[in-house]
Amino acid sequence: MSKDVDLPNRRTVMTTAGAVGLGLAASANAATSRPPAVDAGVVSDGKVQFPPSSDPSDSQPQQPPNPDPRDKRVGFAVVGLGKLALEQILPAFAQAKHGRLAALVSGTPDKLRAIAAQYGIPADCCYGYDDFARISSNSAVEAVYVVTPNALHHRDVLAAAKAEKNVLCEKPMATTAHECRDMIAATASAKVRLMIAYRMQYQPHAREAIKQARGGKLGDVVLMDMINNQNQGDPAQWRQKRALAGGGSLPDVGLYCLNTARAILGEEPSEVSATIWSPAGDPRFAEVEDNVSFTLRFPSGVIANCLTSYGTHRLQRLKLMGTSAWLEMENAFAYEGQRLRVAQLVDGKEHNAELTIPAQNQFALEIDHFAQCIRSSRTPRTPGEEGLQDQVIIEAIYASAREGRPVKLERIVKRDAFRGAEPEAAD
Ligand code: NDP
Repeated sequence: MSKDVDLPNRRTVMTTAGAVGLGLAASANAATSRPPAVDAGVVSDGKVQFPPSSDPSDSQPQQPPNPDPRDKRVGFAVVGLGKLALEQILPAFAQAKHGRLAALVSGTPDKLRAIAAQYGIPADCCYGYDDFARISSNSAVEAVYVVTPNALHHRDVLAAAKAEKNVLCEKPMATTAHECRDMIAATASAKVRLMIAYRMQYQPHAREAIKQARGGKLGDVVLMDMINNQNQGDPAQWRQKRALAGGGSLPDVGLYCLNTARAILGEEPSEVSATIWSPAGDPRFAEVEDNVSFTLRFPSGVIANCLTSYGTHRLQRLKLMGTSAWLEMENAFAYEGQRLRVAQLVDGKEHNAELTIPAQNQFALEIDHFAQCIRSSRTPRTPGEEGLQDQVIIEAIYASAREGRPVKLERIVKRDAFRGAEPEAAD
C-alpha cells in the first residue's frame, strides 16, 4: 500500500458508521449521500484502494490491480500468431498492468485481420514479416514479443533490434549459442533491452520455491528431481523438424528443468551427463529426440536429476530435497494449477502441508516485468545472457549423450551470474 494514502482506520470507520446508526446525522438524504471511504475507496496518485472491511482476524480481500493508464503502458507488438500467442499471450494482456497490446505481426493475412478485429488493433498497426521494418516509425510500439518457431527467433530479434525496439523473446532463445551471442550483440548495439520469456522465474509458486531453497527453509538443498514430459502429436508440425526446432524435447520442454534448477540455486552447473533415446520407426522422432535423461552437478555438491520426453503422458513435476525438509511442486511447468507442498518434522511429528499461494497469470507477470524494466532502465531478471547460458548447457548435454561421457562446464563462481533485477513483489 502506498505510504501517502491516508486511509481511515477501522475504528474511525466503525465510529462513523455507529454515529449514523444512532441517528445523530441520520436523514432521508443519508441513504443517498456519498458512501463512506470503506465502501467507495480512496484515490491517491491515480490509484484506487479500499480500507480494510473484514475483521482484522480474517484475511483481507486483494486490492484492485490498478493498471497504469493506457497511454503510460509499454506498447507491445506480438510477432507470430500461433497457439501460444492466441491461447495465452494475447489474453494475458488483459491482466497486464504495465504492458498493452499495440500491434500484431503475422505471415497469414486472414488470421491477422481476424485477430486484429478481436483485439481492436488498427490496420496501420498490423504487419507482415516482409514489411516488419515499417514498425520502426510506430511510436505506439516500444517492445516486440517474438513468438515464432525457435529457429526464427534469431531473424526476428535482429529485425526488432534494427527497428530499435526492445525485445521479449520466447524460449528457447535460439538454436545455437552462436545465434544467441549474435542476438545479444545486436540488441546491445541498438541500445534496446532483450529478455527471454522464462515465465517460471516470474511464477509465484516457483518464486516461493526459490525463496524456500535459498532461505534455508529446507535445510541445505542436496538433490533436485525435475520432470517435464508431454506426448507430441502430428509429426508434420515444426517441433518435429530439426531445421525449425533445433532439437526435440530437450530445448522445448526439458529446458524448463534446466532453467528452473539453475534459478532455484543461483549457481551454475559445473558438469553434465546425459542419455538420449528415441524409438525407432516413430515418424515424430525422425529428426529430433524423444527421451532425455540428464544430470546437472553444481559446485556446492547439489545434483539435479532431470527427465524430459516428447512421447509419454504429460507430467510436470519438481522436487527439492533438503537436509531438513522436502518441497514438491505439482504441475510445476504448466500454465496454471501449481501446488506446493512442504514436508518436515514439526514438534517431533512428520508434517506435510500445502502452502496456499494465490495464482497469477505468468505471462502477464513477465510482460509487466519487462515493461517495468524498460520504464526504469533496468536489466530484466532473464536477459539474453540467461538464454545463452542455457543454450551452452544444452549443447553440452547433447555432447555428453553423443560421446557417452560427462562434460565439464566453465566454472562460474558468481551467483545469479546471468540474471538482472529481481522481479517486483507481487502487488
Ligand atoms: P505454433 O506452431 O502454434 O505457432 C507458431 C507461429 O509462428 C505460426 O502460427 C506462424 O504464425 C508463425 N510462423 C512463422 N513462420 C513459421 C514457419 N516457418 N513455420 C511455422 N510457423 C511459423 O507454435 P507455438 O505458438 O506453440 O510456439 C511458438 C514459440 O513459443 C516457440 O519458440 C515455442 O518454444 C514457444 N513456446 C513457449 C511456451 C511457454 O510456455 N513459454 C509454450 C509454447 C510455446 P503466423 O501465421 O502469424 O505468421
